[in-house]
Amino acid sequence: MGNICRCCGAPPDHKYKPGPTAFKPPTVTEVRHPHITPTVIVKPLKQQPQTPITPTKPKIVVAVYSYEARDSQDLSFSKGDRMEVQDESDRDWLFVEHLISGRKGYIPGNFVATELSVESEDWFFENISRKEAEKLLLGDEQQPRGTFLIRPSEHNPDGYSLSVKDWEVHRGYHVKHYKVKPLDNGGFYISTNKTYDSLPELVLAYSKNAYGLCHVLSKPCRKPEPTMWDLAPTYRDKWEIPRDEIQLIRGLGRGNFGEVWYGKWKNQFEVAVKTLREGTMSTQAFLQEAAIMKKFRHKRLVALYGVCSEQEPIYIVQEYMSKGSLLDFLRKDEGKLLEFEDLIYIAFQVASGMEYLESKQLIHRDLAARNVLIGENNIAKICDFGLARVIEDNEYCPKKGGHFPVKWTAPEAIVYGKFSIKSDVWSYGILLMELFTYGQVPYPGNAR
Ligand code: AMP
Repeated sequence: MGNICRCCGAPPDHKYKPGPTAFKPPTVTEVRHPHITPTVIVKPLKQQPQTPITPTKPKIVVAVYSYEARDSQDLSFSKGDRMEVQDESDRDWLFVEHLISGRKGYIPGNFVATELSVESEDWFFENISRKEAEKLLLGDEQQPRGTFLIRPSEHNPDGYSLSVKDWEVHRGYHVKHYKVKPLDNGGFYISTNKTYDSLPELVLAYSKNAYGLCHVLSKPCRKPEPTMWDLAPTYRDKWEIPRDEIQLIRGLGRGNFGEVWYGKWKNQFEVAVKTLREGTMSTQAFLQEAAIMKKFRHKRLVALYGVCSEQEPIYIVQEYMSKGSLLDFLRKDEGKLLEFEDLIYIAFQVASGMEYLESKQLIHRDLAARNVLIGENNIAKICDFGLARVIEDNEYCPKKGGHFPVKWTAPEAIVYGKFSIKSDVWSYGILLMELFTYGQVPYPGNAR
């Protein structure tokens, strides 16, 4: 047996010959033995030369507004400061390292923009409409002719609008709007004979020469500070605020269930505090209003900061609106001076807040001028979510015996108890009547 092949008895020196089957390097070799069914040997994959892994570029943000730290977890910064983002899982509070001081901490996400992005430019206004642009440009008398801003176009998804403050003898100060159209290659133009690779280049060119605009671009419009949704990063997940951090300073008014106060948080930051008079309403119902406000965030809804619910009286701590309720405002001197355009602007803001509520399937059920608050520059925000409900099947039918404001409520809601987005639209109509009559009571002849 020693001189023959162990498997076939052939002379042991017969050679292994690669078969005619194509040999496919580098993974597979076919071994051909005259007497063995071909076997496939799988070799390990030869290591392919790999492209070097480039470390992901750190994300740098630049401060669009200055911010003063409020507790031990957040960082102060000044407009223009650069910071490296280390955690952006919570868009409201980014965890960053300040690139000058080297300090680390949380910062409010809506105070910064990615470095070199168009959002970081002083003249870029991300979420505003034509009406709001006009308000911002004309609201501040100190802003000269040629003050401008660029905003995403409301009608053309890839385009922008340039809004410029102008002055003419017959019209006084007013705003002109120009379309900024995109080019197929990524550039932009206002007039076809002058094209630019980017918006900053376009702005630079029109800052030197009007090229047919009403005025050369003089300076960016002042940006109003964004809303803070939490008092500080500590309160981003929890909403019980220690009572001793709240100072009640002066009474603002009286609601159905208690007083409303102007106050400060930690003696520093302005807040409004709604208190619940003992025995007027169940704590649960009062906190339900707070829960709704905390969950829904929109620039046309009053922001809820938190509650002090561990002791009586319970507090709801919310954003302070300096001019109080729209109803009181309309009836006072400042409100009486509002012009048609200002009233339209307020109506627009309320509609925008209600549109947001509709998108969340939330019905308010108590929309009225008394439940809209006014801040500086006629900013309007919807409040009082005590009757608000999330609806599942387009309709909410409350249990019998609930109280609702009859003059603001749609007929089908009064008669059949059917509350819906449509019944909120009815209430919005009544609010328009209050607005354009400077705060008259609806259906003046009727008592209720
Ligand atoms: P309410 O209990 O919501 O009906 O509020 C009663 C009054 O308190 C209102 O008419 C306002 O004048 C005032 N008020 C309520 N909330 C605020 C706030 N967030 N900021 C300023 N004033 C407020």
